[in-house]
Amino acid sequence: MSRLKLLASAPAFALASTMLLSACATESSVPQAAATPPKPKLVVMITIDQLRGDMPWRFKDRFTGGFRYLMDNGISYSNAHYQHSTTFTAVGHATLATGGNAAQHGMPGNDWFDEKTGERVYCIEDQRHPMIGGKVDAKTKHKGTSPRNITSSTIGDELVIASGYKSRMFSVSIKDRGGIIPGGQLGKAFWYSSGSGQFNTSTYYYDKYPAWADAWNKADHAGKYQNVTWNLKQDKSRYVYADHDNRPGEKGYKHLKATFPHKLGAAKKSDMYSVLRFAPQGDELTLAFAKEVIKQEKLGQGKYTDMLAVSLSALDYLGHAWGPNSLEYEDMLMWIDGYLGDFFSYIDKTVGLDKTLIFLSADHGIDEVPENLNQGFYMTRTGEGAGRHDPKKFSLRVNNALQKRYNTKEPFISAFWNPALYLNMDTIAKLKLDVAEVERALRDEIVKVDGVAAAATRTDLLIGNVTKTPIMDKLQRSFHPSRSGNVLILQTQGWYLYPNVDQFAAMHGSPYSYDTYVPIMFAGPGIKKGAVVNRLVGPEDIAATVAAYLGTKPPSGSVGTVLYEVVDGLK
Ligand SMILES: [Zn+2]
Repeated sequence: MSRLKLLASAPAFALASTMLLSACATESSVPQAAATPPKPKLVVMITIDQLRGDMPWRFKDRFTGGFRYLMDNGISYSNAHYQHSTTFTAVGHATLATGGNAAQHGMPGNDWFDEKTGERVYCIEDQRHPMIGGKVDAKTKHKGTSPRNITSSTIGDELVIASGYKSRMFSVSIKDRGGIIPGGQLGKAFWYSSGSGQFNTSTYYYDKYPAWADAWNKADHAGKYQNVTWNLKQDKSRYVYADHDNRPGEKGYKHLKATFPHKLGAAKKSDMYSVLRFAPQGDELTLAFAKEVIKQEKLGQGKYTDMLAVSLSALDYLGHAWGPNSLEYEDMLMWIDGYLGDFFSYIDKTVGLDKTLIFLSADHGIDEVPENLNQGFYMTRTGEGAGRHDPKKFSLRVNNALQKRYNTKEPFISAFWNPALYLNMDTIAKLKLDVAEVERALRDEIVKVDGVAAAATRTDLLIGNVTKTPIMDKLQRSFHPSRSGNVLILQTQGWYLYPNVDQFAAMHGSPYSYDTYVPIMFAGPGIKKGAVVNRLVGPEDIAATVAAYLGTKPPSGSVGTVLYEVVDGLK
């Protein structure tokens, strides 16, 4: 072994450290200071919406871009699972950004129901902060948006505070919630409008668009996709699902049908803007905007550490439309790998990858299309089929049962938003019923419905009075004292549960491993290269880890522990 190799090897390093420590011990009794975290110029948080944890490993050998870079140059956690049951976009992004669960970060789901107003609340809606210039997507029901419903600080907030507001935080996504939540209270968020093809922001962040954003939007970068066709990125013979381009239950979206090739262009340009969210090119566009943010705001090029969050959402849209075991999903991973490789090259040129901390994860996994499960997967072996819940039907059924029980025609159910049924409090007041007793009655009725595995009442969740099992613990962590409903439901494995029964081919949102399983990857200065860690960890741990790495305070709602492999060995 050459001297160079010997010096670089771990035992030699350990020996040198021991010698150093013993030398110090003879000269001074002051203990050695903990390793000083390096100060990267830029922190990049990448969230890939719906990237289930097995996918990077399933296709590892075919990656040559960004996934390959992170696997070869950093630490990959191959057994990371969310510790909550509400595996949805808003909840996952909030946990990633804050390290907390619902009670800490304030997100019990993508939507909840406000008893006082009797209306649905979308996680990031805020009527006080309309879109700048009133650029409201014709289809968007929410006219204003902000991060004010998030009740914890985020990684980015803490970085900005620790620098005396000199560090800057930006966040970009196709989805509004995918941009706004990671951006925290002190960042600037931009997100895609499927009506205009532009990247929007609200008056929470700016009084008017920065000149560069205005110019970028006016250039209509999305417009070029009118002439683009989504084809397979690699030779078809390499694909696992090459012979399965039209599996049962595949839905597609608008003019994107079940099979390749997928022409993005449409007679109505707005239809093309809309389908971009369901194709790899939507993420290409998002990363083009992210590059523009780095360029124009000179991120990572000043004295203080800046942060950029990018949430790539197209995989989620297309996973819902075609399912995770589809040729489309498989191909999408090849495109994301390529786009990320290109994005990392851009960061290398502008900031330097040796000065950049990158971490990547996902907001949730995904279940198989229920119709596929029933075509001969594991569910048939258990003698139980997968299925689709129709919340309109089960709401009516339990409503009727409660009306019969209390001998009244008054309505009992106000709403269903995953994972909760909300009781009509006017009815309960009018009939002078005990809320806890009605909740128990509702729980006893809902568990009779096929495909419901368990349920818990708000009264019990408030005092932690649920059976201690790994799955019920996840439900407990998903509970928010004022935003969650009266009875929280857990579906049976393989069951689709969403307000609209057949809107999507595949769904997530359960506490089961297919939905909780996500990748976690870290690469940056001082971090071990090419390491794979198999112990069970959670995305809850990311915020504490990044804080330890940066030497900042963990976000206020953080409940995770430091992933010590990331910070071990920092000099
Ligand atoms: Zn989704």
